[in-house]
Amino acid sequence: MVENIEKSRTPSWVKGPIPRGEKVRRIRSIVHHRGLHTVCESAACPNRQDCYSQGKLTFMLLGSICTRNCTFCKVETGKPLPPDPDEPERLCEAVKELGLKYVVITSVCRDDLPDGGAAQFAQTIRALHRLNLGIGVEVLIPDFRGSLSALEKVVAAQPAVLNHNVETVPRLYPEVRPQAKYCRSLELLKRAKSLNGGLLTKSGLMLGLGEREDEVMVVMEELRKVECDSITLGQYLRPSLGHHEVVRYVTPDEFVQYEAIARKMGFLGVASGPLVRSSFNAIDLFNEVRLYKSTGLTY
Ligand code: SF4
Repeated sequence: MVENIEKSRTPSWVKGPIPRGEKVRRIRSIVHHRGLHTVCESAACPNRQDCYSQGKLTFMLLGSICTRNCTFCKVETGKPLPPDPDEPERLCEAVKELGLKYVVITSVCRDDLPDGGAAQFAQTIRALHRLNLGIGVEVLIPDFRGSLSALEKVVAAQPAVLNHNVETVPRLYPEVRPQAKYCRSLELLKRAKSLNGGLLTKSGLMLGLGEREDEVMVVMEELRKVECDSITLGQYLRPSLGHHEVVRYVTPDEFVQYEAIARKMGFLGVASGPLVRSSFNAIDLFNEVRLYKSTGLTY
């Protein structure tokens, strides 16, 4: 009954189509066949039909089991398997077969590993560069529990974009991301820039978890203070009744307003909309930022 109430009040603008068709089957088969994972499937992303039909997906390294229990996330929590040393090469094979020119990679949180999984990110980025196919690599990394040496490993491998989501406003961290720290996430983005000033950085928030508009503004300002180049803003959707509730559905018009504000604050890449996720149209955002950087223009 509760589930029906939740479903019935879900506005049409946050309902994505059920993924089906040949392109969906092909991507799933290539990924599955190599024992890889995607956050698209693990998080049951509503954009799969749209993304897969354009050959877009986000790989998820280090297995499908996460060591954290963020209340917004559908990814399974538990004791993960040890890292698979062949995973970077298998991911490269999948990338070649799919003919990708821009690859987005994330991982589960691996607080059980001394470096949080940073070496696996670095090895994967390097393996993709070794293909010599001009592939751009965007990484969406966890906070590595604030380890500078872990972050250094990833930055040294030269991704095109380093993304780290703050996810929500600091007041909601204890109930949404209990093992994370807002300041630690901001610090990570700041350090990434100080390690490589040319590295493009990106972050994102989910809206609808109970945050106030003024709190979102403060977070956006603080992201700009650490020179974050791009931002994504999307509607939080509840994966199950065991997850954090949707406190509010932000309207499409409000997302448009957030986009305008973010651009005014100086973000060069902005994606803001109900179904925007941190990897949604990542290549377009990357190209947008590169264009602004190369021309010296701002929005
Ligand atoms: S938005 Fe990101 S996670 Fe969702 S289907 Fe597209 S690539 Fe996958």
